[in-house]
Amino acid sequence: MQGAVLHGPRDVRFEQRAMPAIVQPTDAIISLSAACICGSDLWPYRGIQPISQPVPMGHEYCGIVEEVGSEVTSITRGQFVIGSFFASDNTCPNCQRGYQTSCQHRQSVVGAQAPFLRVPLADGTLVPTRDVPADGVVASLLALSDVMGTGWFAADAANVTPGSTVVVVGDGAVGLLGVLSAKQMGAGRIIAMSRHETRQALAREFGATDIVTERGDQGIERIRQLTNGLGADSVLECVGTQESMKQAIESTRAGGSIGYVGVPHGVTLDGADLFFRHVRLHGGPAPVRRYLPRLIDLVLTGTINPGRVFDLVLPLDQVAEGYRAMDERRAIKTLLRP
Ligand SMILES: [Zn+2]
Repeated sequence: MQGAVLHGPRDVRFEQRAMPAIVQPTDAIISLSAACICGSDLWPYRGIQPISQPVPMGHEYCGIVEEVGSEVTSITRGQFVIGSFFASDNTCPNCQRGYQTSCQHRQSVVGAQAPFLRVPLADGTLVPTRDVPADGVVASLLALSDVMGTGWFAADAANVTPGSTVVVVGDGAVGLLGVLSAKQMGAGRIIAMSRHETRQALAREFGATDIVTERGDQGIERIRQLTNGLGADSVLECVGTQESMKQAIESTRAGGSIGYVGVPHGVTLDGADLFFRHVRLHGGPAPVRRYLPRLIDLVLTGTINPGRVFDLVLPLDQVAEGYRAMDERRAIKTLLRP
């Protein structure tokens, strides 16, 4: 089969790769119904997170089970399944507490920008739908594999409650779905920080009540003006830079909470500053597996449509163009059809 492999900065190739096979008896092989490119794929793509050898790309997936290992009991051939970018057993103490991305046996799932994928720990990782879904909802189900689950975790970690005031830092797909999540959780006011018109429009569609285009000290000042000088109850940090973390921390009211899900790159925190601000910080790789059953239900009942973040659809063999479009911010998120 052919799949996406990153060779170096801005060098993604669609090339021959080994067909995935069962390695452990707990594995499953799935054929992907759709694949996509993650904002976090742009870190190695841009060379900010250097690679030492060619890397198969992609960690978001949903599709049909083709084969299962001899010890897999709950997942069967022919089912439509969705899983997270980290495989987990879903039984260890960390999984039982809802932190499957800190599973004691976690394994990365890589190489999903391809027609077929091996998923380890299939019983713990994969969630099947009752029936094979209609093609029209596949994009929204695929979004649950990472971006939607991550936006939901950002809102959950930021303690969004009914009526609360929320700020979302970052207008990538995760930030936009953080807006959608905060809306679902009943936030009364959702301030999205974005200076990009099409993203502002989608943020409003997802439930944003205010848009702030300023950044840096002006952005912080604008949030203060909008919140009676106090800051917001909940702030979702969906970028991962020093500037965005500073924006998040200084936009939060005393006693408020920050959910941070942007993978930090070069972020350092000032202990004394945090101490005197009285803010809560909770973040990390989103435990998508915890949320999958509920989010699948929300998609299949038509309550949410997170697939709206895919504004570019390409055949899988044009994956390199998909990366370019996201790198240049021409696309929010690229869906790839195998
Ligand atoms: Zn576990």
